[in-house]
Amino acid sequence: MKFYMPVLVYQEENVIWNHREELRQYGKKALVVTGRHSSKVNGSQKDLEAALDDQGIKYVFFSEIEENPSMETAEKAAEYGKQEGVDFVIGMGGGSAMDASKAIALLIKNPEETKEVFYQNKPLLALPVIAIPTTAGTGSEVTPYAILTIHEKRTKKSISHRIFPKMALLDSKYLSYAGEKITKNTYADILGHLVESFLHAKSDSYNRMCSSYGMKLWSKLCQPVASMEMTKEDYARLSETGMIAGMAITHTGTSLPHGMSYALTYEYQIPHGKAVGIFLPFFLAIYEDQEAVNEVLSYLDFGSVEEVSEYMKSLLGKVEVSHEDRERFFHSFAADTARHKAYPYSIGEKQLREMYEDALSVR
Ligand code: NAP
Ligand code: ZN
Repeated sequence: MKFYMPVLVYQEENVIWNHREELRQYGKKALVVTGRHSSKVNGSQKDLEAALDDQGIKYVFFSEIEENPSMETAEKAAEYGKQEGVDFVIGMGGGSAMDASKAIALLIKNPEETKEVFYQNKPLLALPVIAIPTTAGTGSEVTPYAILTIHEKRTKKSISHRIFPKMALLDSKYLSYAGEKITKNTYADILGHLVESFLHAKSDSYNRMCSSYGMKLWSKLCQPVASMEMTKEDYARLSETGMIAGMAITHTGTSLPHGMSYALTYEYQIPHGKAVGIFLPFFLAIYEDQEAVNEVLSYLDFGSVEEVSEYMKSLLGKVEVSHEDRERFFHSFAADTARHKAYPYSIGEKQLREMYEDALSVR
């Protein structure tokens, strides 16, 4: 067994300001990678500028990261970072900005490479990455994964390189600026990480330690998230839960619901967490070891898989996909056997087809 978690994590109010001096060790100039709007609205951009100015660290912004960032956007940002001669990269925002910052840090450190290197198995280093999450969902601030959109293949995939942030700065005050949809979708993503890690082929007692603790935290938020009546403490707990779930998948990876979600996000523009959450109850229903499922249910404080299903439906709504597209997604995923390895048992075509039918047809 192995437990490896090399990210220095701080979670507290005013975290960026409190730890500003520690940023100096990563260099004199930073590339700050964000989405287009949210960091300007939720206060994170202002907080970071104040901290960097105070420390005399120069910085430039690349604020064009789209949801489900593409290889092309990462390459464009890296070109800018190279021109500007930056020493480190700060990814601030949701999973999209943080994931992109890892891929960008890889290309800046290896200026002779192009975006094709993302999916090549070469032992390469990256510039240091600092992660500042403003959603609680992906856990990207503590994982070594960076998921990019590959337009040529009409899907999303984790890059081949494993890049842990050096430091993660979590301040849950930013989370309260996210609206209902973003909060609920990212909350569903957390559950995906916790459950898929717990029931993963690589699962052992180390990741289960993170998953079981995370599921207990998650269950305490079911009501506040459903009603969107969240206290400051709830937001802090949400932030912690997302991060712990990230630690769980760091040790295993994700499983079938994540693998199945990517086509749905690409073809139907369904946000990541929602696309995962739609499949989750059906994953629990077909999972071979129902004793393990019962253990999951007990941590989550749900009485049955049907209860999970009802809750997720009320949280996320439904997604309807045409019969032709369901068949297309099913055939493509059934052929992608590399993605099935996360499932500890042999997975039959009948079960897979059932998952697509049950999750994506409205009855
Ligand atoms: P996201 O795609 O990063 O962001 C979704 C939306 O939320 C964007 O419009 C963003 O606006 C906005 N937003 C972010 N923070 C906000 C805040 N505090 N207040 C208001 N709006 C805010 O969503 P995400 O679910 O966090 O990340 C999803 C991505 O992460 C996917 O690409 C997924 O594949 C990946 N992922 C990675 C891992 C991993 O281990 N690395 C794990 C799971 C998922 P702006 O664009 O204006 O910033
Ligand atoms: Zn996810």
